Amino acid sequence: MNKNNIVGVDIGGTTVKIGLLKDDGKIIKKWEIETKKSNDGTQVIDDIWNSVLVTLKELSIDLNQVLGIGIGAPGFIDGKKGYVYEAVNLGWKNFKLSDYMSDKSGLPVFVENDANIAVIGENWLGAGNQSKDVIAVTLGTGVGGGIITGGKILNGANGTAGEIGHIIVDLNGYDCNCGRKGCLETIASATGIARQAMQIVEDKPTSKLAVVFQENNTITSKDVFELAALGDEDCNQIINHTADVIGFALANLSITLNPSKILIGGGVSKAGNQLLQTINKYFTKYALPRIREACELRIAELGNDAGIIGAAYLVKNHKTE
Ligand SMILES: [Zn+2]
Repeated sequence: MNKNNIVGVDIGGTTVKIGLLKDDGKIIKKWEIETKKSNDGTQVIDDIWNSVLVTLKELSIDLNQVLGIGIGAPGFIDGKKGYVYEAVNLGWKNFKLSDYMSDKSGLPVFVENDANIAVIGENWLGAGNQSKDVIAVTLGTGVGGGIITGGKILNGANGTAGEIGHIIVDLNGYDCNCGRKGCLETIASATGIARQAMQIVEDKPTSKLAVVFQENNTITSKDVFELAALGDEDCNQIINHTADVIGFALANLSITLNPSKILIGGGVSKAGNQLLQTINKYFTKYALPRIREACELRIAELGNDAGIIGAAYLVKNHKTE
């Protein structure tokens, strides 16, 4: 029997993305279930496994045709041990995730942080093109990241490597969720961009942003990108400042890694070329020329599928190691 199916799981705070994939990363079927946090956080794992069993049956795939399960989950995770130190969103603390799922399914289970599996997926079948040295940054509600060096994802001493969103870029900046001040995330996330826009609303009551705020009673990063595309000077300045700060952080980070690719993904990156080109401009301005020469900036390509594809790669990679 051909054992070339893999289950890829990407657990988020509100939904779990699940995929059944071939070992070349092709998605056979993908679906989502709700993230239920009951039973000390084990309910969600039970739900995932039950829905996988239903799908396998539906597709007439036998359990012994499945190579294993790859899981990405939020929080501080030891990928080697499959151990979650803490995932606040899911109520996990010192949780042996891979043992729990493995006991349940009888299959090999491999676990990584959710930002890291997205990077692994993107580097396998997306914009990374299987590069050995990659920095990936995800600009969403927060700013996530992951680092591949020598072809391997970097975990660090306690699972915290590659938390690019928490590089400090402004010593006198805004408070960050991590308890410090002025992290990249306070400026470059969707939330950070909206906050910059609110500052304009307050400072310039006749600006276009102020008009949008009066109409909608709120400002989002999407408003900023839309107004910028229409030529609004305030919004162009917000994007320029945001790209400047991102380019600065990436240039400094590049010194330690000498990456061949920097991948930029997440909701904010969908604003597309204007942002990428401006980040590129500032990255070029700040980076050491020899490092700049070797490095290409690209927008991530796999979108929401990066996680389940990366999770599948964890299984495939362990098999061939
Ligand atoms: Zn922070």
